Amino acid sequence: MKNYLMHINGLSVGENLKTQDVTNPATNEIVGTVPVGGEDEANQAIDAAHDAFGEWSNLTAYDRAVYLKRFHELMLENQEDLARTMTIEMGKPINESRGEVKYAASFIEWFAEEAKRVYGETIPTHVSGKRLQVWKKPIGVVAAITPWNFPAAMLTRKMGPALAAGCTIVIKPSSESPLTAMKLMELCEEAGFPKGVINLVTGSSSKIAKAVMESEKVRKVTFTGSTEVGKILIKQSADTVKNLSLELGGHAPLIVLDDANVDVAVKGVMASKFRNAGQTCICANRVYVQSGVYDEFVEKFAKAVNELKVGNGEDESVDVGPLINKAGLEKVNHHVQDAIDKGASIVTGGEASTTDGGVFFTPTVIGDADPSMVMMQEETFGPVAPVQKVETQDEAIALANDTPYGLAAYVFTESVGRGTRVIEQLNFGIVGWNEGAPSAAQVPFGGMKESGIGREGGHDGIEAFLETQYVAIGME
Ligand code: NAP
Repeated sequence: MKNYLMHINGLSVGENLKTQDVTNPATNEIVGTVPVGGEDEANQAIDAAHDAFGEWSNLTAYDRAVYLKRFHELMLENQEDLARTMTIEMGKPINESRGEVKYAASFIEWFAEEAKRVYGETIPTHVSGKRLQVWKKPIGVVAAITPWNFPAAMLTRKMGPALAAGCTIVIKPSSESPLTAMKLMELCEEAGFPKGVINLVTGSSSKIAKAVMESEKVRKVTFTGSTEVGKILIKQSADTVKNLSLELGGHAPLIVLDDANVDVAVKGVMASKFRNAGQTCICANRVYVQSGVYDEFVEKFAKAVNELKVGNGEDESVDVGPLINKAGLEKVNHHVQDAIDKGASIVTGGEASTTDGGVFFTPTVIGDADPSMVMMQEETFGPVAPVQKVETQDEAIALANDTPYGLAAYVFTESVGRGTRVIEQLNFGIVGWNEGAPSAAQVPFGGMKESGIGREGGHDGIEAFLETQYVAIGME
């Protein structure tokens, strides 16, 4: 067990503050403590980032890439330590944690290069004595607030483009899983980033967010988390007209049409649904299967689910770890009980357990689901897949779109024509077609409707940290 400290202006800070515990959800053991910072610490971090901005933004993209590439290398060299920290602080199976560290590092590498391709424009003039140009500038000090479910990747997906663009940053990780982020700060220190460029505060989210939102020095807030908190931040951003990027909740539909390859569909739903014990924003939350393949799909799906091993993520053979905490377990239990009360059948799973102090839910397939059930309307965030039988393609599309969320959707069909037509009608920012794992550093990630504003990853990811400056040059 280690007592971690905050990282402000190149110093370890917070020794004299009260601490909060971080517990392993597989065992309920305390695995670390972090200081409970508030407005004062947030303001110190903002001042440090503000002071560092001039020098950092004046470096060339090539110079900044040297720091980022060193950080990328250090992440890979320390993959095992980062992965173990992640697993013990939030329960993810160790192999998934290793995968997340690689995925997280890929954002640092990709954006180190992408900053070299931040092009302005020269626009043809309408008068011979003028030249018209568009310049790109880093937006300024950025505050990044991240969730617990991907403690490394959700952070580097923000840090990579922000730092590459020339911004400095104040990070506030989730209180449930701050330790991976704190280990990343140690690696940033080793990579030699100048002091004040990267700062991290832990503690009261509402107090830290208040300081961030009230500060004129912070020009951008980039947030990943629930739609509920995203809405609070939108309201709080009004007084200083902050630029916001929001990656919020999802409620992904997965559609299996009659002409799907059922084995491919089962592989896809397994990849999408049970990663991170179903606690991902893009995981399939509701499955719509056309009647012609419903029985075959449910049978093969249940068989694959029965092979998953549940347990402590430190065990190499475990596929599904614990849920994040008791509140998470209660939510999943409530969704399952509600579905049963409304006539759903448990095809497999359905059991909560608190073995050895951990909070586990067995991977579950629910049959005969219908729209009256809470799990067909809200993000469950657990290893539970409700399956509803549908008669037509249009019925599946209407049900899929009948939600305020619009993050990810999945479609399984062997027909190019059907797949194209279905996807054209789906209002989701990310679509997997015969594919259950669509994420990558070089593609745009983000949602429509109440799933967010803006995109991370790909070209859009760095634009989010740039201002456009139009320059009209008068000439003799
Ligand atoms: P959350 O409760 O919204 O928390 C996210 C972050 O916001 C944490 O750092 C939290 O800090 C902080 N926070 C909480 N209340 C706040 C407030 N009033 N003001 C400012 N910050 C506040 O979400 P979560 O439970 O960590 O994450 C799960 C959610 O994130 C799900 O809805 C999931 O779909 C979504 N998510 C979306 C994406 C995406 O890319 N779209 C990716 C991953 C997750 P504390 O922990 O210290 O309270």
